[in-house]
Amino acid sequence: MHTYKCKWFLEELNEYLDDTADAELRQRIEQHIHECPNCWVVFDSTKKTLAVYKGMEAQNVPADVEQRLLKVLQQKLKPNHDEIR
Ligand SMILES: [Zn+2]
Repeated sequence: MHTYKCKWFLEELNEYLDDTADAELRQRIEQHIHECPNCWVVFDSTKKTLAVYKGMEAQNVPADVEQRLLKVLQQKLKPNHDEIR
């Protein structure tokens, strides 16, 4: 079941993964993924996709590969956004 917290979570997730989130925000995000399996899945797959992306970036990712990765990431996030509405 999605709550207002899930919407908040998805909005803050980018900040968290960018390492720009403060300690309080990180704690709230980590608490939510423990409570909510749906958001945990989103969090986990996004983190893995970004890890691949960042690993490739170090070796100069061609623009088309970068676009493909971003598309995969957006597709993974999309169904969850739809559920919230
Ligand atoms: Zn949630």
